[in-house]
Amino acid sequence: MEQAEARQRIEQLTEQLNYYNYRYYVLDAPEISDEQYDAMLVELERLEEQFPELLRSDSPTQRVGAEPSDEFETVEHTVPMLSLDKCFNEDELIEFDRRLKRHVGMDEDEDIRYVCELKIDGLAVSLRYEDGVLVQGATRGDGARGEDITPNLKTVRSIPLRLRGEPPAIIEVRGEVFLPISEFERINAEREAAGEETFANPRNCAAGSVRQLDPSITASRRLDIFCYGTGEVVGGDWASHSEELEVLRELGCKLNPHIGSVASIEEAREFCADWTARRQELDYAVDGVVVKADSVELQQRAGATSHGPRWATAFKFPAVEAETVVTDIEVTVARTGQLTPVAIMEPVFVDGSTVSRAVLHNEDEVARKDVRVGDHVIIRKAGDVIPEVVRSLPERRTGDERQFQMPDECPVCGTEVVREEGEAATRCPNLNCPARRLSLLLHWAGRQAMDIDGLGEAVGKQLLDRGLVERPEDLYTLGAEQLEDLERMAEKSAQNLIDAIEASKERGLERLLFALGILHLGRTAAARLAESYSSLREIADAEQEELEQVPEIGPKIAESISDFFSRPENRDLPERLEELGVRTTRLEHEGPVGTPLEGLTFVFTGALNGMTRSEAEEKAANLGGRATSSVSSHTDYLVAGPGAGSKLDRARELGVEVISEEQFLKMIGEAED
Ligand code: NAD
Repeated sequence: MEQAEARQRIEQLTEQLNYYNYRYYVLDAPEISDEQYDAMLVELERLEEQFPELLRSDSPTQRVGAEPSDEFETVEHTVPMLSLDKCFNEDELIEFDRRLKRHVGMDEDEDIRYVCELKIDGLAVSLRYEDGVLVQGATRGDGARGEDITPNLKTVRSIPLRLRGEPPAIIEVRGEVFLPISEFERINAEREAAGEETFANPRNCAAGSVRQLDPSITASRRLDIFCYGTGEVVGGDWASHSEELEVLRELGCKLNPHIGSVASIEEAREFCADWTARRQELDYAVDGVVVKADSVELQQRAGATSHGPRWATAFKFPAVEAETVVTDIEVTVARTGQLTPVAIMEPVFVDGSTVSRAVLHNEDEVARKDVRVGDHVIIRKAGDVIPEVVRSLPERRTGDERQFQMPDECPVCGTEVVREEGEAATRCPNLNCPARRLSLLLHWAGRQAMDIDGLGEAVGKQLLDRGLVERPEDLYTLGAEQLEDLERMAEKSAQNLIDAIEASKERGLERLLFALGILHLGRTAAARLAESYSSLREIADAEQEELEQVPEIGPKIAESISDFFSRPENRDLPERLEELGVRTTRLEHEGPVGTPLEGLTFVFTGALNGMTRSEAEEKAANLGGRATSSVSSHTDYLVAGPGAGSKLDRARELGVEVISEEQFLKMIGEAED
């Protein structure tokens, strides 16, 4: 690779990884899987090795975690809390041992004693005890400075508030706070029932629970800890890591039961191989094995880099795939009536949680993967979150398997389904289908639409089942007393929901249009319409040809809008909404006239830091600009974030000006020059 090319790739990787770090460490909401993240980091490390002159000070290879959040007091770590270098296979583990021996001047055929510990996938914390009393608990943060979360950590029952025996005058105990998988599943099930967002995996759930401003939330989640080391120690020492662990045990700190003390790297390799096969036995997530040289004297000779100690490494387990059996292929019905096949599988534990369903998207995908009812299949978690069927195993078939066929009738209401030519989706055309009603209601309440907090699936279903709501606008007729009768709904949550419904009345024309759930009408099209028309009534009255004159409204969307408003039940919708107090006109800033971005066309690509892509498009549109989805010679600016790919290439080819998110925010006056 040429230097110029390497520079560009390094820049790209640095930006992307810094963004993913922020999602992972600060927001506790990763967007990509750890495997994808690690692969990018390795690529960056290799490039930096090859082109040392290109190493940047903000490179994610040079730092640990992320800066502490301002929401907590900052704690300076007297002894830094470092990360660990990683090995992704056995060869790399053997190489780690060779490198360490070279570094400390040992012979190749001498053996190093190691301690092998499971690498718990939780959150690193430091617990400071003075005269045996817990005085401070902190997160790792960026390694040098963490967050003070003492009150939260005091709610973790396995963390001793006072050490036993004869503790050193000062001792910082380091360990990993985690959530048992069973507890993670319980929390997610509760959140799902309450219509709240679920956590991606036990690690994020643990991190989200510990980094809470309200310790009672932390206390309600049964967090646990395994201790594995120390930071600053005054008045105590030991000659080996095994002794250090023994001291911790005697002081009453909880240690993981599976610790191996081995005489050579070969034995460490066996420990790793053994746990690669057995990791699913545990009720907590582990992502590898930490292999640490036992002798403190050797540790001191080896020292550390800015990233991690040279005497330890994390052997990472390979990505988890699991085999299971498809017991059924169910079909669910979405808001638009789209029928989606979902594989129902024998529950299998994969990568930190139990999986029993995987979306198969559409008929063509089922055929392409050739998934049949009764098939053995390989599944994996895509992005650590969404389970997917990787492939079926035809060699395991007995002949009793059943091929999937899209039903001719909607499985919920029995109406004959349609599949339009050239479309992958099959749809139920019945607008009153109960399944469509529920997803329409949830869409209406969604964050991008009317944003009604607390209206999730469980509540929505009950509202429909009890006939309290038939169509979304009926929400505006509800009173708190009607909601109190619903399951899991207390007086306070009923009132909160009523308040949220009330607040949603003022979202304005653009979001209201989107909330209506008109087929093909997305956020951008809704924004364009709200610029050209000032009220819902005007849009409802517009002819199809007239609607097509609006930028980005093609014949398909225009036809769908006309269809929608010509249905008898929608003819007086604008008036009905107004009577219910819902604003059907545009908000002040929704008009395009005299706005700074007038006449400018933007395309957003890649990941943005402070907003979602649709929020960015909304901002541009609100200020009179246009956001389109593809780059052409009419594009004025491409706003590119980490992960930008073909659109960036195309913009460069066409000479379109490329700007960063920051520059865009400056342009619209939301960031300082
Ligand atoms: P790491 O978590 O891989 O390793 C260091 C950490 O291991 C320590 O800080 C400690 O918390 C932990 N640990 C667990 N058991 C231990 C034991 N017995 N002894 C010592 N330490 C132990 O490294 P990291 O720098 O914290 O984070 C990198 C990890 O986070 C990678 O796995 C990476 O994939 C993931 N990550 C993912 C994303 C994403 O977007 N998916 C983003 C950033 C980081």
